Amino acid sequence: MFHGPPVLIACTHCAAPAHYRTFLSWNTFGMTAWTDGVNLAPMTPIFTWITRCATCGQYYWLEDAQELPLDPERSFPPEVRPLTADEYLAAIDAGLADGPREFELKVWAWQRYNDAFRGRPPGSCAPPVTGRSRELIEELRAFTPVTVNDQLFRAELTRALGRFTEASKMLTAITGERSAPYVPVMQARCAAQDPGVALVPGGRHPVWQDHDDR
Ligand SMILES: [Zn+2]
Repeated sequence: MFHGPPVLIACTHCAAPAHYRTFLSWNTFGMTAWTDGVNLAPMTPIFTWITRCATCGQYYWLEDAQELPLDPERSFPPEVRPLTADEYLAAIDAGLADGPREFELKVWAWQRYNDAFRGRPPGSCAPPVTGRSRELIEELRAFTPVTVNDQLFRAELTRALGRFTEASKMLTAITGERSAPYVPVMQARCAAQDPGVALVPGGRHPVWQDHDDR
């Protein structure tokens, strides 16, 4: 993986400086695909688009922050930190899920919730989703993106809510070629009454992430 030059930015709330690193190239060797649309590659960290200021504790989008010139006279500012699952929820509640960014931010928040269950023993079940995380999944389920082929996505959200019979029925109707590796994995987790995220052997890139033209 090769990094581009660091980008210096100012917190949109208190102007405290920070920096983030861009990736010029990355290595997808050993990539794994998951039922929630996450693809993980051991050599490639997940790029964060949103952070929490180390100085004032407030949340902001990196793309909203003013870029700062590199000042050799001053110490180099800290790197922005990816958010935890709870911090994603706090960022949404702080109003960062605005306009066209609402869908992405809520998907990332759900995927970060799922991170805690990726390492569970194969075949074991994750606990039911409760509280604010459950509300988030319900909000995502009600969301209607314009160009997303969202049947697989809806089925996965339905399974995450523990509505296994309904999710299984939805999966039966899905026939797309790119969905093919996902459907049997999700059906098996429905049969096991497991709301947890699962590894998809042979999965690449689920259809619901094909929304670049949204
Ligand atoms: Zn700040």
